[in-house]
Amino acid sequence: MLACMNEVTQLIDNYRVNLDGGDVIPDRPYEEVEELLKESLPKEGTSIPSVMDQIRRDYIPNCSKVGHPNFLAWMNNSSCDAGLLGEMINVGLAQVPFTFKGGKSATVIEHLVTEWFCQIFNYPENSSGSMVSGGTVANLTALTVAREKYTDGAMERGLQNRKKILRIYTSEQVHVSIERAVGILGIGMDHLVKVPCDEYHRMDVEALEAAIKKDRDRGYMGFCVVAQGGSATVGAVDSIEAIADICQRYDLWLHVDAAYGGGAILTDYGKKVFKGIERADSITTDPHKWFYMPVEAGLILFRDKCRLTNTFLKSSCSSYRGEMDSVNRMNNGIQIAQTSKSFKVWFALKVYGLDLIKRCIEKDIELARFGTKLFLETGRWDIVNAVDLSILCVRYKSEIKNNLDYDKLHMTILDEYEKSGEGLLTQASVDGAVSIRICFANHRTTKDDVMELVKKLDDIAKIEEMKLRN
Ligand SMILES: *Cc1c(COP(=O)(O)O)cnc(C)c1O
Repeated sequence: MLACMNEVTQLIDNYRVNLDGGDVIPDRPYEEVEELLKESLPKEGTSIPSVMDQIRRDYIPNCSKVGHPNFLAWMNNSSCDAGLLGEMINVGLAQVPFTFKGGKSATVIEHLVTEWFCQIFNYPENSSGSMVSGGTVANLTALTVAREKYTDGAMERGLQNRKKILRIYTSEQVHVSIERAVGILGIGMDHLVKVPCDEYHRMDVEALEAAIKKDRDRGYMGFCVVAQGGSATVGAVDSIEAIADICQRYDLWLHVDAAYGGGAILTDYGKKVFKGIERADSITTDPHKWFYMPVEAGLILFRDKCRLTNTFLKSSCSSYRGEMDSVNRMNNGIQIAQTSKSFKVWFALKVYGLDLIKRCIEKDIELARFGTKLFLETGRWDIVNAVDLSILCVRYKSEIKNNLDYDKLHMTILDEYEKSGEGLLTQASVDGAVSIRICFANHRTTKDDVMELVKKLDDIAKIEEMKLRN
């Protein structure tokens, strides 16, 4: 069966070589795709070549071309080739490093990669972390550990007999995964305090302090602040240093959600923007976003590594316990059996070296600035965010005064752009109105692509605005 291996790699290679051709998002509704792929449960086997034919015929034409230079939506924009090769080897070697015995090399590589990232974020000696599926699980893991510290044992006793209400502070820019984590952990989304932001969409630090004080006066127990290390909507980075001061003063856990933005820490510019991040108790970053690794590669780092192990050890099987507690991966996070998430990251970091990845990230930051300049030069577009990192949010200047029509204009521009097959962008709600969000986290995107993109959007906008006004 494995004789087909070459054919499989050939198929992957063909797909990736031709990533630039065809529509970025195929313009087909669900029913049509279902029509192609739906069939009854197979009782008898089919030969691999015939399944491969079906993949080529019915599956690949409806793939979304994530990685295409104009795929600038979301953030999982362009997994790198070395990451792919690393993942292929990883799957083939089939290690299950939930304990050291399940994969001895894989366990060591997991700790090594985590250590490398601790260095990247300038964390001290005693720090550590865990590779997870993505930012969502990383955030849940961080808040689980924070909750454990401040509740004296919520893992065992739950929150059933608590007298004081637990509160978490974050900004209006918070990612939905934090809301979800707060819900799952029994704190409740009602007790996630969304502190207002300043005009640059960064948390208003004075308002944060006021909210903490107000809660104390009411007898609530605030225990954690989640700062944005590049919000998903506009890429805003909070003043981490100032927030760290407040956390220190009021004895609160500081978590920085840098799922998307973390990559910027490699650049000199990013080091300034993230000043103070090494003071955070925990940091989420997604190698599968702005480090260009294949999904799934999320990472959660803890300043004090004992907190992580001690939290999850409480629900560990006794048969696996012993000296290896902090070494065994299953004691360092939620998931038990999982493939090595770190192997592909290790492989790609070794193949490329950090400097090359850093240069790609610098290029993305530069493209966001270049795009800003081009949009402004037309005289027809406004930039509606501060462009702290590599996300650019724009709106077309228009005579349309009705808010609904103005939002509709931008939704239509996005639809038309997607239908053109040239790329994918998403909308972002900024200060209550729809804007077009462009996220440069794609190592394949060049200046020429940005020039074409601005021209294309400008052309579509002119036409659609006219239609709406008539
Ligand atoms: C993407 C993102 C997440 C969620 O990460 P996943 O990898 O999609 O699970 C959380 N927070 C922020 C700021 C993000 O950008």
